[in-house]
Amino acid sequence: AVRVRFAPSPTGFLHLGGLRTALYNYIFAKKYQGSFILRLEDTDQTRLVPGAAENIEDMLEWAGEPGRERIFLQGRNRKQEKETVDLLMEPTVGNEEFLEKWLHLCCLGWQMPPEKMLKLSKTQLHDCIIVRMRLAAPQQSLSPTMDSIYLSINSTHTALLPIRYDNRCRNLNQEQVAQKLAKVPKPSIRFRLEEAAPAFQDLVYGWNRHDVASVEGDPVIMKSDGFPTYHLACVVDDHHMGISHVLRGSEWLVSTAKHLLLYQALGWQPPHFAHLPLLLNRDGSKLSKRQGDVFLEHFAADGFLPDSLVDIITNCGSGFAGNQMGRTLPELITQFDLTQITCHSALLDLEKLPEFNRLHLQRLVSSESQRRLLVGKLQALVEEAFGSQLQNRDVLNPVYMERILLLRQGHICRLQDLVSPVYSYLWTRPAVGRAQLDAISEKVDVIAKRVLGLLERSGVTLTQDALSGELKKLSEGLEGTKHSNVMKLLRVALSGQQQGPPIAEMMVSLGPKEVRERIQEALS
Ligand code: GLU
Repeated sequence: AVRVRFAPSPTGFLHLGGLRTALYNYIFAKKYQGSFILRLEDTDQTRLVPGAAENIEDMLEWAGEPGRERIFLQGRNRKQEKETVDLLMEPTVGNEEFLEKWLHLCCLGWQMPPEKMLKLSKTQLHDCIIVRMRLAAPQQSLSPTMDSIYLSINSTHTALLPIRYDNRCRNLNQEQVAQKLAKVPKPSIRFRLEEAAPAFQDLVYGWNRHDVASVEGDPVIMKSDGFPTYHLACVVDDHHMGISHVLRGSEWLVSTAKHLLLYQALGWQPPHFAHLPLLLNRDGSKLSKRQGDVFLEHFAADGFLPDSLVDIITNCGSGFAGNQMGRTLPELITQFDLTQITCHSALLDLEKLPEFNRLHLQRLVSSESQRRLLVGKLQALVEEAFGSQLQNRDVLNPVYMERILLLRQGHICRLQDLVSPVYSYLWTRPAVGRAQLDAISEKVDVIAKRVLGLLERSGVTLTQDALSGELKKLSEGLEGTKHSNVMKLLRVALSGQQQGPPIAEMMVSLGPKEVRERIQEALS
């Protein structure tokens, strides 16, 4: 059965790149009736950001991909990792061959009392012990040179790493180990990488080989504080959770090479891997997390619909039949095909987001139940924007709001647009003076009389089209005043604005009574 996970580290809020990884996992799981797990990987306790875990969970829920199971590793009993390390290092496991091959006694010290360790046979110790000094007590470490290297390979200082870690503790003899352990009772534990990492097949990138051993040196898998590092935690969790497929960003390809060696050492069957190409800006530059505008909460606060983000992100990536705009999650699930994901970077053009949102908003408006939900949101927006200025609270009436939504759908990109200045006439009466009207035409009274007459006769029943036809007739025979001026006059009288929707639409949305009163008010 398909079982996937989205495994963000709660070291920051959910951003577009994270959403993309979550989406592909979610869609893949749904396609094959599998399960999707949200696993918050907090192995690096020093980098945790308060509120990040909640934000990731809330934003996934907002975007329509709630993790069926939420697994938060913080404070969890890390028994599984400890057991795994024991499995890797414990000679009584009886797996001599395993020890020989993987030399996992580099794990020396963790949980294993020195006396016990010293009982290990020479063969077991041979070429297999890596002791890392405890960072918390550098004064106890062996030499300044070693200190600097150890310091620099600590996760917070990775950028300072001067050279490949030289695996210096790999070949210590029993006596040297004893000496070190006397000074450092809790060393961290490294995993001895095999010289030639085997090639592996990635479902997207095809055959891959990464020379991890010669490039980086043996990775720490358990820190001196007893916390596993990402590599160990990831392998252990994926194994114990029964993850069938790992879909994650291509920046993890090299880690996969290490993970596969860990799987091999542990005798575990690895999951299938599918690495997703990078998500970049349209110009190929990196999506910056620092600008703040790639975080999901920013888009949510700006009134963008989750559907639009899901759509634009999958639209610029591969793996779906076609790339038409306006697709919804269920449609994406139907169209998804993992084998169609290419290695090309996905180029995201956020300038198109309003257009995506326009389409999705239009789709929601056309559904009665969704429209009702939108009305609720619009009410809140209007209250927030105009609250105390609302002379007429009838504008909050759902019937009125639904009418506005139906008339304006396809024209507005976000619900928020409806509370922008150009639409303020929908919620409050404009302050228009007679002089403003006179400046547009000399025939203000005649025009007003005709419009009021028209409203009297048929205003209540006219559709927008019919009203538009009537308005054309209304300008007939007005010498010196063009139809466009009549429209301008009405626009100013009704909205106080120079621009906006067609006059007939404005009249239909406001309703005959309100139109009449506004005209009368402007005339006085
Ligand atoms: N915790 C890793 C991250 O922050 C997860 C990588 C993976 O999916 O294995 O992206």
